[in-house]
Amino acid sequence: MSQIRIFKFGGASVKNAEAVKNVAEIIRNYRGNDYLVVVISAMGKTTNALEVLVQKGYKKEDFSKELDELRNYHYQIIHELFQNSLDIRKEIDEVFEEIRIILSTVAQHEEYNFIYDQVVCQGEILSTKIVSSYLNSIGIKTEYKDARGLVRTDNTYREGKVNWNITEYLIKQNIEPIFTEGNQAIVVTQGFIGKSSEGHSTTLGREGSDYTAAIFAYSLNASDVTIWKDVPGVLNADPKYFADAQLLPQLSYYDAIELTYYGATVIHPKTMKPLQNKHIALRVKSFIHPANPGTVINDKEPLAVIPSFIFKVNQSLISISPKDFSFIMEENLSEIFALLAKYRVKVNLMQHSALSFQVCVDFDEQKITPLLMDLERNFVIEHKTNLELITVRNYNQATVERLLKEKELLVEQKNSHTIRLVVENK
Ligand code: ASP
Ligand code: MG
Repeated sequence: MSQIRIFKFGGASVKNAEAVKNVAEIIRNYRGNDYLVVVISAMGKTTNALEVLVQKGYKKEDFSKELDELRNYHYQIIHELFQNSLDIRKEIDEVFEEIRIILSTVAQHEEYNFIYDQVVCQGEILSTKIVSSYLNSIGIKTEYKDARGLVRTDNTYREGKVNWNITEYLIKQNIEPIFTEGNQAIVVTQGFIGKSSEGHSTTLGREGSDYTAAIFAYSLNASDVTIWKDVPGVLNADPKYFADAQLLPQLSYYDAIELTYYGATVIHPKTMKPLQNKHIALRVKSFIHPANPGTVINDKEPLAVIPSFIFKVNQSLISISPKDFSFIMEENLSEIFALLAKYRVKVNLMQHSALSFQVCVDFDEQKITPLLMDLERNFVIEHKTNLELITVRNYNQATVERLLKEKELLVEQKNSHTIRLVVENK
C-alpha cells in the first residue's frame, strides 16, 4: 500500500538551476513508491526582493529596476533548465505583469499588508511553476496545484490564520483523487500562501512553508513530512555561534516545540503541533547529503540527553519601576502589558521582583523608542541594549560556566530542564 508523504523544499534548495536539478534527483531517489506532495518556497531570496518591491510601490517610487532584476534572476534559471523555454517563459511573464499591475495601481486607501500579500505570494507561484514544468520536462509527472485554492485563511494579511475545517476539506477533495493506483504523478504546490474567504491571497507569516507542509500532512493523514535543508538536520546550536554544533538524531515533538519557541530557526514553530496531533513524523534532512539520516521528530523520548543552545542576539533589557518607589503591583503590570501589546513588542523573557519588572525583548528601534517614551510617563526606566539571550535545554553546570566566560550575567532563570541567561559581553 502506498502512503502519502510530504516533501518541503525551502528557498535555498531552489536558488539556482543546479539546485533545482538536485531537487529533482532527490524526488526521483527518495519518494519510493509513495504518493508525494511537494511543497516549495520562493527561489533564493525572492521573498525579500518582493518585500522591497512592495515598499517602493506603496510609496509610489519607481520599482522598475528591482522588478527587472527579479525577472532576470528567474529568466536565468529557466534558461539553464529548459531546452525549449518558450512556454514557461510566457507563464513567468504573466506573473511579472500581474506584479507590475498590482504595484502600479496601489490606491491610497489600500492597506499595506493587503498589498504585501497580493504581491509577495507571487514568489511561490513563480518557483512552483518553474519546478513543476522542469520535473515534467525530465519525465517526473506532476500535478500543479495552486495552494490558494486549498489553504483557507482569515483576512489577517501577512499572518493568515488557517481555517482548519475548510482547509482539510479542500485538500482532501482536491488531492485525494489524484492519488489513485497506477497514477505516478506527484503534486507540486506552494508553501506559505493561502486565500481568504473573500478570495484574496494571504500569506502565513515569513518562513511559513514548513507550516504549509504540516497542514497538508495533517489533512491527508500523511505518513511523514521531510523538510530538506542546507543543514544536516536539527543541530544542538546554531553553527554561526558554535563551532562544534552537534546533530540531534531524534527529538520529541515537545523538545522541538520548545527549541523553536525559544528561538531555534531551523523549523517554523507552528509546524509541530498539527503533526503531533496525528503522530506524523517530521524529518529534517540535508539536500546536500540526502543519504544522511538527518533528524527525526516523533512521539518517542530521545535516548541521549544532549544540551542544546539557542542564542538570540541584539536583545534589550528594559527594567521598569514605579516613580514613587512603591512596589510593582497588578495595576502597574496591566499598564505595562497594554503598552507592550500596543507597540507589538514580543517579550522573550520577563522577571518580576518587588521593586521592578524586567522584560527582555528584540531590539527593534522603531518599536522600542515609542514604547520607552510612553513607559517613562509613569515609570522609571532603565534600558540596556546589545545583550544576548541564551537558552540552554538539558543544561548542566559545566556548560553554563563555559558560556558565562567573559560575559556579565544580568538575568538568570531556570527550571529542571532549561536555563535562560541574559548576558552582556565584557
Ligand atoms: N518564501 C517565504 C519566506 O521566505 C516562505 C518560506 O520560505 O517559508 O519567508
Ligand atoms: Mg524562504
